[in-house]
Amino acid sequence: MSESKEWKKIAKSKEKRPKVQEYKNWKELPPIPISLPIEGSMGITGDWRTFQPVILEGCNKCGICWMYCPEGVIKRKEDGSFEIDMVYCKGCGICAKECPTQKIKMIRESESKDE
Ligand code: SF4
Ligand code: SF4
Repeated sequence: MSESKEWKKIAKSKEKRPKVQEYKNWKELPPIPISLPIEGSMGITGDWRTFQPVILEGCNKCGICWMYCPEGVIKRKEDGSFEIDMVYCKGCGICAKECPTQKIKMIRESESKDE
C-alpha cells in the first residue's frame, strides 16, 4: 500500500490517530532550527520600535517569553535568566502578554533609560 493510502487509512480510524503531544514546559520541547534576526530593507528593527519590553525583578526564569517571541530575540543567559536583544526586538508585546507572572512591562521608547 502506498504511503498516502496508509495515511488516509489511519486518519479514518479514530483509535489509530496520533495522540496530541503535550509538554509541561519549554524544557521538554525538541530543538528546532530558527533563523537569527538581521537588518532588513527598513533598517534594524529596534530603530522603528514604539514600545519596548522590560523584564522586571521577580522573573521566575520559566522561559515562556523566550518560547513565544516571534523574532527569536530573547536569549537565555548562563544563570538561567533571560535578556532581550533590543537591536532586533520589534516591540510587539507578545512576551509581556504571555508572561505568566506579568514580569515583562512594555514601556514607550521615550521612557527608556537609553534615550
Ligand atoms: S516585544 Fe515582541 S519581539 Fe520584542 S522580545 Fe517581546 S515578543 Fe520578542
Ligand atoms: S515569561 Fe516572564 S517569568 Fe517567565 S522567563 Fe519570561 S519574564 Fe520571566
